[in-house]
Amino acid sequence: MDFFVRVIVFCLCIVTAVGADNDYVTIKAKAREKTEDIFTRYEIDNTPKNRNLFKKINGNITIPRNDVLLAGKIYALPVRSVNYAGEPLVELLSLSNEGDAALIEQYNDRMKTKGMRRDDFRVSGKLWVPMWLTGTSKQKAKNKRSYHRLFGKGYSVVEKIDNLLEGQVFYIDPGHGGPDPGAIGKRGKHELHEDEYAYDVSLRLARNLLSHGATVYVIVQEMKDGIRDTRFLNNSDRERYYGGQPISRGHRERLEQRAAIINKLYDKHATATQHSVIIHVDSRTTTERIDIFFYHAPGSERGKATAETLLQTLRDKYNQAQPGRGYNGSVEARDLFMLNHSKPIGTYIELGNIKNPNDQVRLIEPRNRQVIADWLCDGYLALIQKSKK
Ligand SMILES: [Zn+2]
Repeated sequence: MDFFVRVIVFCLCIVTAVGADNDYVTIKAKAREKTEDIFTRYEIDNTPKNRNLFKKINGNITIPRNDVLLAGKIYALPVRSVNYAGEPLVELLSLSNEGDAALIEQYNDRMKTKGMRRDDFRVSGKLWVPMWLTGTSKQKAKNKRSYHRLFGKGYSVVEKIDNLLEGQVFYIDPGHGGPDPGAIGKRGKHELHEDEYAYDVSLRLARNLLSHGATVYVIVQEMKDGIRDTRFLNNSDRERYYGGQPISRGHRERLEQRAAIINKLYDKHATATQHSVIIHVDSRTTTERIDIFFYHAPGSERGKATAETLLQTLRDKYNQAQPGRGYNGSVEARDLFMLNHSKPIGTYIELGNIKNPNDQVRLIEPRNRQVIADWLCDGYLALIQKSKK
């Protein structure tokens, strides 16, 4: 009996917490759509707990073995739609801290940029509240969260997944920026600037590394851009160096500035394992397709080992994701200023040929830029695993 009383009290709390007038967000299943697909689109972790919740709120349905839902049927998601009139989310949802409020806000913004919803909750007054975010242990979650305005709307909160990269310092160096756009490709009426695409992948990688407990410095920064979920990235020259100094016009000077910033920070972290990750996009003749490839400083054994681990990780990932595609990346030693003049273990990464229409797809699709960042992060995780053996 006591159990039932408690359950009822608990339910009342939720109702008062989110306001009386709330409902689940619903979707209409497309042909052959799986629960897993829908979960991915709405960023719902595909855990047994969330699957059970999904079944429950849909009237205790049974999900078929092949995971395919009934086409055309309306399903409720474990995301509530709550009336919102501009009040602080902490109050509206009885949250214990601002961090939870920011997560919920950013979830809404991401769902909008990804096209899962058309409206802005601030305008429509319908806030989406993911049930898995409101049900977690608050204090624990608070320690696992950090804020980085640099990553922009929808991405500034970073949730720590684990501490696998604790004690590792990364200098993410997106190529070019400021007055220097780097290589330029054309796609329809759009001009693709190397610095913008390298920057977006850099931010995504930085964010991933942070989520594993690494210390991360992004050497070129643009506070307005953040991580962008659009195909064609606006070209700007507002980028500055970490620390705020402008990027100079002279090529040699630019590289010297960068290396100086990294080397100064390096000395501060002298006892840590430190990596610089220099991200560029190559430019070749339009017809030449190239896969992601790597350079290390001549004579650097650790640089070579790092690049080879990243290469192997990408090869494995491509084989899993696109069997039969093959992957023609390479690792080479090359005399490059940033490799020879910065103190950390340096890896210079070329993401593709900005002039080739096929390679351009790797760059312009936001999902692809995220996948590159995910795989590179996996590469660094693999490297750490190896070094522990
Ligand atoms: Zn470049």
